[in-house]
Amino acid sequence: MASIVCLVEECVYNHRSECQADNIEVRSSGCRRVEDADHTACSTFESAK
Ligand code: SF4
Repeated sequence: MASIVCLVEECVYNHRSECQADNIEVRSSGCRRVEDADHTACSTFESAK
């Protein structure tokens, strides 16, 4: 998988700002129409705690 920089340090897949998951799924964050990055969210996220 391509290198993915991610700054979500609370995710179990995050290691030194790089995603270590085999793959990820990104969806809209709940809005009807996605218009910018703030409207997207990684649904593969799992809390490290
Ligand atoms: S699974 Fe998503 S939130 Fe977690 S490190 Fe990878 S890209 Fe970031």
